[in-house]
Amino acid sequence: MNDQTPTHGPATICVHAGTHLDKHTGGIGSPIFPCTSYAYPNPANENIYPRYFNVPNQRVVATKMAALEKGEDALVFGSGMAAISTVLFAYLKPGDHALFQADLYGGTHHFIVTELSAFGIEVGFAATPAEFESALRPNTRVLYVESPSNPLLRCVDLAAVGKLSREHGVLSVIDNTFATPINQNPIPLGIDAVVHSATKYLNGHTDVNAGVVISSRPVVRKVAEYAVNHGGTLDAHACYQLERGLKTLALRVGRHNENAGRLATFLQDHPAVSRVNYPGLTRHPDHEIASRQMRGFGGMLSFELGEPARVDELLRRLRLATPALSLGGVETLVCLPSQTSHRSMSCEERQRAGISPGLVRVSVGIEDIEDLLEDFDQALKF
Ligand SMILES: *Cc1c(COP(=O)(O)O)cnc(C)c1O
Repeated sequence: MNDQTPTHGPATICVHAGTHLDKHTGGIGSPIFPCTSYAYPNPANENIYPRYFNVPNQRVVATKMAALEKGEDALVFGSGMAAISTVLFAYLKPGDHALFQADLYGGTHHFIVTELSAFGIEVGFAATPAEFESALRPNTRVLYVESPSNPLLRCVDLAAVGKLSREHGVLSVIDNTFATPINQNPIPLGIDAVVHSATKYLNGHTDVNAGVVISSRPVVRKVAEYAVNHGGTLDAHACYQLERGLKTLALRVGRHNENAGRLATFLQDHPAVSRVNYPGLTRHPDHEIASRQMRGFGGMLSFELGEPARVDELLRRLRLATPALSLGGVETLVCLPSQTSHRSMSCEERQRAGISPGLVRVSVGIEDIEDLLEDFDQALKF
């Protein structure tokens, strides 16, 4: 493994951390180790097996992610939901209570209300650290947030959440998928565990489904005990692809930040647009919190059309930006949360959550910004 010191910058860590140097050939990148069986005793004196989350290609990605998020250790999963569900099941038992941020990724919300309740785990939802504090109960074990959130890009004060969780002996967890470790490191701010859908920015090329958990060694060890039973592993080939994607993460996210900032400003000034949600805009309600805890504001934004009825027309007229689900890849994608991620909600629930029919979510890619601005400009000329 390449040695990493905490003094290295994130772009250096992206390129080098965790690389499994090939002693036999001198190859400077990690080889793929597809084996499911390893002779013993081995140098690590460990029983190596993919479902034990310890084969070489899994360890490469885990080491890189632990270094990027400034945690002690990490586990790589077969999807973001495998990472999220395994952490929650590792820390929650029947009779326990868990608090979640009110606006969550749809898949996480669905998991909470179907699975956790079925296992006799009580759940509550809140929006701010003050609301979290008053919703805490003696049996609360987990405090789970997402910042920035989907699709309104609301940000929560992570230092305040971390402090609250420490004071009450509760595990704090954040889904850091939207920010990436390039823009935001929650662990140094006091959050216990970070989860990612690596399917998005971490891989970045829209061709791998994966997840990661990063935390202290004791927390990762506890999650690993459950992970072995739940079996949500990632195979060596996909780990290799994810490692390759991660090498350019800092470069890509820098460009995503730049492009999203430019597109947000353009849309804010456009007469056909009534509102833009992007934490980098001074008008965003959480701009101050975001400025304090983020190094960049990310590649995700959403906006509302002045005439919501024209939203389908807008999607048809875009030539470069593609109407599609998912996010975080090199290509610009657009979707309508009211018809996709938040479709299962009732009209009133959507209204309460601020998801209007004219809301468009954009995952801003790394194309030339002039081409993107031109595309949105021509599509908005109704
Ligand atoms: C996509 C996503 C997930 C789920 O990840 P999968 O890799 O699809 O399982 C969780 N959280 C956020 C914020 C996401 O965007």
